[in-house]
Amino acid sequence: MTTTRFAPSPTGYIHVGNLRTALMNYLIARKAGGTFILRIDDTDPERSKEEYVDAIKQDLEWLGIHWDRIERQSERLDRYHAAADELRANGRFYEAFETPTELDLKRKKQLNMGKPPVYDRAALALSDDEKSALRAERGDGVWRFKLDHERIEWTDGVLGDISIDAASVSDPVLIRGDGQFLYTLASVVDDTEMGVTHVVRGSDHVTNTATQIQIIKSLGGTPPEFAHHSLLTGPQGEALSKRLGTLALRDLRERGVQPMALLSLMARLGSSDPVELRTEMAELVEGFDITRFGAAPTKFDVEDLFPLTARYLHDLPLEAVRPHIDALGVPADQAAAFWDMARENITTLADLEGWWTLCRDGAEPLIADEDRDFIAQAMSLLPEGPYDSDTWGSWTKAVKDATGRKGKGLFMPLRKAVTGMERGPDMSTLMSLMQTVRARG
Ligand code: GLU
Repeated sequence: MTTTRFAPSPTGYIHVGNLRTALMNYLIARKAGGTFILRIDDTDPERSKEEYVDAIKQDLEWLGIHWDRIERQSERLDRYHAAADELRANGRFYEAFETPTELDLKRKKQLNMGKPPVYDRAALALSDDEKSALRAERGDGVWRFKLDHERIEWTDGVLGDISIDAASVSDPVLIRGDGQFLYTLASVVDDTEMGVTHVVRGSDHVTNTATQIQIIKSLGGTPPEFAHHSLLTGPQGEALSKRLGTLALRDLRERGVQPMALLSLMARLGSSDPVELRTEMAELVEGFDITRFGAAPTKFDVEDLFPLTARYLHDLPLEAVRPHIDALGVPADQAAAFWDMARENITTLADLEGWWTLCRDGAEPLIADEDRDFIAQAMSLLPEGPYDSDTWGSWTKAVKDATGRKGKGLFMPLRKAVTGMERGPDMSTLMSLMQTVRARG
């Protein structure tokens, strides 16, 4: 059975880059009728925070990305211990004692000699006595996985055939000196034991994948299918990494982005299929195909989310937005007319408030000098409220008859005097909602 997982580390809020990973894994599982696991990668007790675990769940729930199971790595440490013992028994695990400064020096020397900065495996040559002496002096060492120096190959769901020379990669550290398991080991143990069949993640993980394939095999498991999506860049192709902090899902929610707008964009961006607004998750599931995605970095422009949000809102029925409209204090018998007027003139739901303020309090009139007399005359012809859907028609007719103005010369100054704006909603509808017209004096 198809099983996928989204595996965030709870060390911060999830952002659009994480969402891409979450969504692709989710859509693959749902399309196959499989299982989608939310796995919290919290093996680092210092950096992992419970508030981020809660935030990750809230953000996914907001988007309608529902998980079938939740797992936490911090509750599976015994499994990682068992795997470490197995790697030791298989002769694939060794303790190394170099300090970060020593490793840095080695790397620099290698680079100076034009060699790739790969760990030289000096620790493999240590005798037991030497190790005891180092342990006494420096504390426990790190544990490295001894890679087989062969080519590691797989057919990637996005990148196609990949072949990596294991000799060009350092033996990965799987356990730190303080005993903390690193994600590389924890992840393969989980993927294997939880029956994960497909792993989609960012292309920054390609080298990890190579080493993880060897670790999985050395533990007797079968590697899942891997797919590495491209990384997101800003609209100009600039690195997004520094700006991701401002592209957290909760920031987008705050700015009024609608979930389906965000999901519609992320399910297609970087693929050869066009971005199309979808209103139901089921449609995204149906239309998703990871093989349509390309390896090139994908440009993401946060501003693209707003026209999609506007289009999504435009087609919503009144019931869907009723709580927002009620919260503004719109009288129940005007809610439908208000939504009809506003839906075409908002980008996010937050814009509703401005329209309701206009209806309730009127607008600061916008009157050109040459129109002052005309507006004064027109206002004397405007009846007292309450206004209705005939008010605009009968009033403008009366003004036309009295002044001889017509067309744009008639309607535009009146619109500006009533709404304070040059363009906006249909005036008949708007007028029926206006409780006061300030230009009337
Ligand atoms: N916790 C890892 C990360 O956030 C998971 C990577 C993976 O999907 O394997 O980078």
